[in-house]
Amino acid sequence: MQSNSALSVRLMNLFRLQDLDILIREASDPELKSSEEKMGFAHPHLDKLQAARERLLETIDKRDLRLYQKIAKRLTHAIVPVEDRTCLGCYIGLPTSAVSLTTDPDQLLTCENCGRILYWLE
Ligand SMILES: [Zn+2]
Repeated sequence: MQSNSALSVRLMNLFRLQDLDILIREASDPELKSSEEKMGFAHPHLDKLQAARERLLETIDKRDLRLYQKIAKRLTHAIVPVEDRTCLGCYIGLPTSAVSLTTDPDQLLTCENCGRILYWLE
């Protein structure tokens, strides 16, 4: 249902940032790292991930970045899908008024309960 392409690109960039942040967190965790190495998984280089993150940051809207960082500080997944008008981050139903906000092409929708950035499952 995401018809506005500019907004889709912004969401996609935030997604990529979220993915990198999760990978960086995993690569920085010595316990997790050693257990994965034991299983034979080679971890991508932390500095490579961080360089990719730096490049990505240049393409992200400053307001979107501030919003993302505020959420990512306390939650692993800052961006979650909505299904049946329910936020799949906190499982609280969204009021109809919040759902209609998505008609604003510049507005990223956030959950009124947990504050996560929301996107619509097709
Ligand atoms: Zn929520």
